[in-house]
Amino acid sequence: MSDQAETPKFPTAATLNSADTFTGSAWVSLLVDPKNPTDCSLGYVTFEPGARNNWHSHPAGQLLIATAGAGYYQEKGQPAQLLRAGEAVSIGPGVVHWHGATKTSLFAHYAINPNVSQGIADWGTPVTDEEYQTAHA
Ligand code: MN
Repeated sequence: MSDQAETPKFPTAATLNSADTFTGSAWVSLLVDPKNPTDCSLGYVTFEPGARNNWHSHPAGQLLIATAGAGYYQEKGQPAQLLRAGEAVSIGPGVVHWHGATKTSLFAHYAINPNVSQGIADWGTPVTDEEYQTAHA
């Protein structure tokens, strides 16, 4: 096997998100079977510019690891945080939040959900254009 540096390969096979839980287009790859022995799920999500998921929470929390572009993570009642490739956030159980791309950049992240036997996500209402706009202020 060659030890020459190669372009990193990120997941390319993906499913278009559900319009029920996202605004705009995002592609979701589930990289491991959620019923694996670690009880963690591992996914990869790519958002087009302007796309974001609804307000939601995770019964056992979530880790996000940004890999490309620029995006936001926002907890309810807190300012949005800009995320760029290589940055990560940890999200506590039940913390209401959203994540998605900025208006002008795509955004991609890995998402790790621990203890998925407790549930993966509880979905709420869409992030309105007004709420999304404040992230860019
Ligand atoms: Mn989340």
